[in-house]
Amino acid sequence: MREKLIVKTGLIIIKSVINLCKKVFGKAREKNSTLSSFEQPIILSRDQHPVSRKHISHNALKVLYRLNKGGFDAYLVGGGVRDILLGFEPKDFDIATNATPEQIKGLFRNCRLIGRRFRLAHIVFGREIIEVATFRGHHDSDEDKNCQKISKQSEDGMLLRDNIYGSIEEDAERRDFTINALYYSAKDFKVYDFANGVADVYAKKIRLIGDPETRYREDPVRMLRAIRFATKLDMEIDADTKAPIKSLAPLMANIPPARLFEEFLKLFMSGKAVENFQQLRDYSLFQYFFPAVDQQLNQNTQPYLADFINLAMKNTDHRVNNEQRVSPAFLFAAMLWYPMQEHIQRLNNETQLTPQDAFFGALSEIMSEQQRSIAIPKRFQAVMKDIWILQEKLVRRDGKRAFKAFEHPKFRAGYDFLLLRAEIENAAGNTSEQGAALQELAKWWSDFQDCNADTQQVMVKSVVTTKSGPRRTTRKRRKPRVLNSSSET
Ligand code: ATP
Ligand code: MG
Repeated sequence: MREKLIVKTGLIIIKSVINLCKKVFGKAREKNSTLSSFEQPIILSRDQHPVSRKHISHNALKVLYRLNKGGFDAYLVGGGVRDILLGFEPKDFDIATNATPEQIKGLFRNCRLIGRRFRLAHIVFGREIIEVATFRGHHDSDEDKNCQKISKQSEDGMLLRDNIYGSIEEDAERRDFTINALYYSAKDFKVYDFANGVADVYAKKIRLIGDPETRYREDPVRMLRAIRFATKLDMEIDADTKAPIKSLAPLMANIPPARLFEEFLKLFMSGKAVENFQQLRDYSLFQYFFPAVDQQLNQNTQPYLADFINLAMKNTDHRVNNEQRVSPAFLFAAMLWYPMQEHIQRLNNETQLTPQDAFFGALSEIMSEQQRSIAIPKRFQAVMKDIWILQEKLVRRDGKRAFKAFEHPKFRAGYDFLLLRAEIENAAGNTSEQGAALQELAKWWSDFQDCNADTQQVMVKSVVTTKSGPRRTTRKRRKPRVLNSSSET
């Protein structure tokens, strides 16, 4: 009898605990699925979460305090809160406030207002920039729709401008993923969770706020962000968030090349390039970054391409994860190497150009084609060109040429690129004359750097005398231009 009573009481306690949990965590989930307003966040007090001022940069705290002192609400939001919950060091600190950009500017001398699509304030502290955004509001009133200056949407539903300001609840609803809609206040030290993000952080789920298709249509870059956060945080994309990605991938064609360059950097230069590349290919998103590479991969026309770019990405990841310097130019050069070779080959087949003219013709074709997807800044294009030109220069080593190549400002990048090419051909077991020559060449340059000036001279001399040394390139004569009758007139 007594045992029965104990079991019954135990069951009642368990039931009440389950109900309580459902009430607390279910509320936000309910709102999340219907996209109704987020009126009541789950509030975690100081002792219920690990976020504390010691995890937040000095400058971010300064900005939070100054905004609060100026009479405004201000919160640390996004990656700053999410990463601290996960035990990571945040990459940067983003702040959300009810102060307008002009009011923010009034509080900080070191403030720059930026962006047209999203007007933001950058508070600059030397190399650290704290991004401060005014709470975003909804777009659905007719008044807003008519006001093109502050908000604009394309026919596809894409937000071209989003400068309607609102409350913190509205701001939370306009954020991308539940794990990014967490707000920390430096005033009361509480975390405000509007979309059940804390539960998703611990469940390791990437879940879009609201209807996934609508949210992707508003901003297709959210598809890339879902992948990036999944690989970066070792999380899983929730089934509903994942489902529409492949079919909506073509929306990526509307993303301006300058924005895609920024996304390229985040996806490929943050230590997770190999994983992100694989995911982008799986979701049919890679083609919007490098159409020519994607095509060659699909058609399997270049046997070494996949291995080559994978090795380049693996090396980049390794360098990033060991805090070594990396340049996007190297990865661009690797990505576009085989498409570039294909262009050179085609020009050689179609026209009688000198090798140099074929190279520059192919370069201009490939770059203008690539720029339509990613706007590669000129300074990186210049380095890519140097790396590619050096591949030829490193072959011809007679006379003073080897020393000249060695002094080239981009020698190191060119040499690393040569090693990469040789390594791939070696791994692929390429025993052809060309494959063997490439490996020999890479070894020659490794040795050359390791020896003194006298030995270097000997090495150069032996290049001229060996059979496999540089062949004198006979310049193809350019065909005389024949004017046809129509152009004569
Ligand atoms: P990290 O900085 O580590 O890459 P993050 O989450 O801080 O991650 P940011 O790009 O710095 O990402 O953006 C800050 C916050 O702004 C995000 O956490 C999210 O709340 C919001 N946000 C950024 N981009 C979008 C977007 N395209 N749509 C909706 N919300 C966004
Ligand atoms: Mg951030």
